[in-house]
Amino acid sequence: MPELPEVETVRRTLEMQLQHPVIEKVTVFWPRIVDNCSPQQFCDIVKGQKIQDYQRIGKYLIFVLDHHVIVSHLRMEGKYYVQKAHEPYDKKHTHAIFTFTNGLQLRYHDTRKFGRFYLYERNEELTKQKAFQHCGYDVFDERCTPEYLYQQLHPRRITLKQALLDQSVMAGVGNIYADEICFALGYDPEISIQRVRKKDFPALLAQARRILGGAMKAGGTTIRSYTSSLGVDGRFQLQLKVHARKGQPCVNCGTEIIKKTVATRGTYYCPKCQRKR
Ligand SMILES: [Zn+2]
Repeated sequence: MPELPEVETVRRTLEMQLQHPVIEKVTVFWPRIVDNCSPQQFCDIVKGQKIQDYQRIGKYLIFVLDHHVIVSHLRMEGKYYVQKAHEPYDKKHTHAIFTFTNGLQLRYHDTRKFGRFYLYERNEELTKQKAFQHCGYDVFDERCTPEYLYQQLHPRRITLKQALLDQSVMAGVGNIYADEICFALGYDPEISIQRVRKKDFPALLAQARRILGGAMKAGGTTIRSYTSSLGVDGRFQLQLKVHARKGQPCVNCGTEIIKKTVATRGTYYCPKCQRKR
């Protein structure tokens, strides 16, 4: 699943590749990909509008048009291809094609069909809409403070890892970066959030921002290497310290990295560096 840094990379890549084209037409092949209106309404409304801006909230990508906004959630496998209209495409897995007046197309590809588009008027407050009903503040939103996280998370009977993954409080941390944040904090991912002290919440937020910020920077450096035939899903080589490193030595102490299941997710940690208390 793309996480915040990957979605940010997709956002920057599309902005660079497409800039501000006018939508000539949209063809939707899989009707359910459009969530909050009919595909026909979606196509009729966006036709003729220009993409003014590319934004992101948590893992949601937002295309700001003249009068409307399109919210896109890539979910598990969604990715975009920017190609010329005459270039061939994967008919089985391409579910929507935006054709622009400049001859380019933006093709949405999704092998699992979990991704969704939502269409809203520009003057509607986005975060109050259906697409965002389970979405809290973005990790980098200034309203996402240590105090806010403490109030929202600390009273709950969940593990630290579940707390980090809870998109309804802080949006943007997924399975990979949750493991990295737990490692940076020196806590076992499975400890109760109630055992994380109030004075540790500033560090929790700072590490989340540092790790996601570093990944975004790494993604930024790979943008130039994308070509239209590769597709844009934002994935890139990551410098991970624990995630997916089962059996390898811990970068701090050399102890073998362990994999266990926490909140149904494959979770990696160092049993020596990450405390259980
Ligand atoms: Zn260690």
